[in-house]
Amino acid sequence: MIPPARWKEMDYEKLEAGLCQLPLCQYEFINTSELTFSERIRTVCEDQCPMYNKSWACPPAVGTVEECKARCLRFPRALMITTVTEVSDIANIEETLATRGPHEEITRQAAALVKEQASEVMILSTEACAVCEKCAWPDGPCRHPEIMNPCVESHGIIATDIAEKHGIEFFNGNIVTWFSLIFYKE
Ligand code: SF4
Repeated sequence: MIPPARWKEMDYEKLEAGLCQLPLCQYEFINTSELTFSERIRTVCEDQCPMYNKSWACPPAVGTVEECKARCLRFPRALMITTVTEVSDIANIEETLATRGPHEEITRQAAALVKEQASEVMILSTEACAVCEKCAWPDGPCRHPEIMNPCVESHGIIATDIAEKHGIEFFNGNIVTWFSLIFYKE
């Protein structure tokens, strides 16, 4: 029997050739079993993030940490990417956040390369979704679920833990490092 196309092994050489064309700082392929999920991250969202309970991309809308973990672990593999941008003053939140849009665009481009070969893809990216001026949460469904990417931390994932395991660096000084995970099934 000839297996369906989605059973084919992915062509990582082709994928990496595409990734090398993008302005990524670093990337790494990981097994999702290596991810660490923590309720503590969720507490930080609740206590310190102004976007808590304000977006479909954030808790509590994304579900419990257990539900988020199960959603992530449906995918055996993920591509981890970072981009970096130098700003004049990292303490200037406006300037720092302005670098997020370009990272989101690069994440979409990297995910498009994965989608060319994978049978299913899920993206976790940066901060809360900023697609609409005002999020539809909690009064109505998400208006653009196809382009809405919840943030990595919203799913209880300790980004620094998986980054450290694979030598992915978070730079200091006036360098903004953005981090995304593109989950996929071959
Ligand atoms: S796409 Fe719009 S409705 Fe959906 S999470 Fe983003 S801001 Fe909210």
